[in-house]
Amino acid sequence: MAANIKAIKGTKDTLPSESYKLQYIEQAALDTAKSFGYHEMRTPVFEYTELFDRSVGETTDVVQKEMYTFNDKGERSITLRPEGTAGAVRAFLEHGLFNEPLPQKVCYLTSCYRYEKPQAGRLREFHQFGIECFGAASALADAEIIALAKQYFDFIGIEKLAVEINSIGCPECRKKYSEALKSFFESKKADLCETCLSRLDRNPMRILDCKSPVCSGIAADAPVVLDYICDDCREHFEKLQTYLKAMEIDFVVNPQIVRGLDYYTRTVFEFVSMDEKTKGLVLGGGGRYDGLIEELGGASLPACGFAMGLERLLIYMEESGIPFPEAPKCNLSIVTAGEGATLKALELASELRAEGYSVNIDIAGRSIKAQMKYANKLNSQFTVVIGDNELEAGEARLKNMADGNETVVSLAEFVSGFERAYLDSAIDLSGVDFSAMTQTDINNLFK
Ligand code: AMP
Repeated sequence: MAANIKAIKGTKDTLPSESYKLQYIEQAALDTAKSFGYHEMRTPVFEYTELFDRSVGETTDVVQKEMYTFNDKGERSITLRPEGTAGAVRAFLEHGLFNEPLPQKVCYLTSCYRYEKPQAGRLREFHQFGIECFGAASALADAEIIALAKQYFDFIGIEKLAVEINSIGCPECRKKYSEALKSFFESKKADLCETCLSRLDRNPMRILDCKSPVCSGIAADAPVVLDYICDDCREHFEKLQTYLKAMEIDFVVNPQIVRGLDYYTRTVFEFVSMDEKTKGLVLGGGGRYDGLIEELGGASLPACGFAMGLERLLIYMEESGIPFPEAPKCNLSIVTAGEGATLKALELASELRAEGYSVNIDIAGRSIKAQMKYANKLNSQFTVVIGDNELEAGEARLKNMADGNETVVSLAEFVSGFERAYLDSAIDLSGVDFSAMTQTDINNLFK
């Protein structure tokens, strides 16, 4: 017998028993983004390789070691997106969104692909929620993006999280800093890995995010970019801090943050777990990238953004015991005996499903006993048995599975009868703070 095919290393299946958790954090992200005026953009999973070479940067770990790149049948070099910003900028330019009122604010939920060494929180296929703001130069834009991310993490219930910020300056500041880095690393040349040796002349800043323990040990003592930024960049950074304080967002300046992608300028930031169990895990990060739109063929337009990993967020939530909403329930199982009952069940289920209820009917041709067992396994909130007697009487017993109470409901007015019984049994809403809930949350309460 042929061996079973397994999922590729570093990829993860999300099963129905877990997918509601992802749906919850995704929907909350879209809702939060919407409250700041960010609307969803979807771009293809693959792009021309050149897009990432030119944006993420040819000397980054992502481009040098981690991209899934292949030639398609037309001999074009294609890459599975390793991150979301490059594709969003490409689409922004391709569709002339720069002609729309600026700033343009977009968000996305995407899969990303990086050939990294798989470990907890580091996958080869992972998912990001990201936002990008095109056309705003002020530090207010950076502050708003950090506020959006913070509001999202607060909403989900992530409390032990540090907001770490830094400025890596503009290309002018970077020239001076690169010189300083170069002379620092020159003296440690003998110990650097081969990739970092090749970076020494071309882009010494990338040595700072090399994952080899020897290189990162050396990099820990390297000069920090914050000491080399120009007056304009310093003023931008100070304004950002003023705005964050005005919004009462606690932050720390961490001069070690450089981020691993070349396109960043000025502000960079990370959201880092402070919870005992996941301490140091970077849930998300972002920054400003004022040169990227021009680099990809557009006008000189400032921009900034943020992205977070959904898998890492789930790890944090599960490790720290942050509650998820309840798993979706089956509101009603209709148990049937005989063809006439099946036809009635088809009719009732259609009507109830159209009202938004989750209804299960027997599609496997099983006995009443087996159907009841299945209804229990589905955690059905209500069951109703329909057979010849019920059809003849025109009514059936609706059973609340939580307390065993039964209500006789007319089959002719089953939908309204069910709705009444359902609402009577609904959760105690006293003490629920509706003002802090989105429409989706409220809808979920009643499902
Ligand atoms: P980056 O695009 O590298 O700035 O990453 C942004 C966020 O995506 C990180 O903070 C992580 O939460 C997540 N992330 C990046 N790489 C991975 C990976 N290999 N596996 C899982 N999540 C990742």
